[in-house]
Amino acid sequence: MFINVSNLKPDQIQEFKGDLNQDWLKQALSSVEHEVIEYRFDLTVEKKGEFIELDGAFSGKAMPECVRCLEKFEIPFQNRFRLFLYKDEGAYVGDGGEHELKQDDLEFSPLKGDKIDVGEILREQLILTLPDYPICNTLCSGINT
Ligand SMILES: [Zn+2]
Repeated sequence: MFINVSNLKPDQIQEFKGDLNQDWLKQALSSVEHEVIEYRFDLTVEKKGEFIELDGAFSGKAMPECVRCLEKFEIPFQNRFRLFLYKDEGAYVGDGGEHELKQDDLEFSPLKGDKIDVGEILREQLILTLPDYPICNTLCSGINT
């Protein structure tokens, strides 16, 4: 889904919500490494002078494969994010929620012309939220042979 920001007036806030019943969202999250079985998001977009601020929150459930025993298991997730999109350079800076702004957070822009690629943003934020090395249980001893 694309949000066209060319008609946004300063200080006007637009809100978007969605869940996996929407095809574009299902499509966007299908390339996430872990299977996503439940997902909801809430996003506000606001034009503030030179940049566009996005505030988002999402939650749901995923079914990653345990890196030790290779069994799939369910994990709940939830996170918030705030991004600032600058039109001119096409770059945006995200603060990753609670964290301090770091150079590492500089990324390529999901802002294409006047359009924000919401699916791309949500996909990226979900990847950042899910564990890199999922373990079904801290006591998991792996595959027993
Ligand atoms: Zn395991």
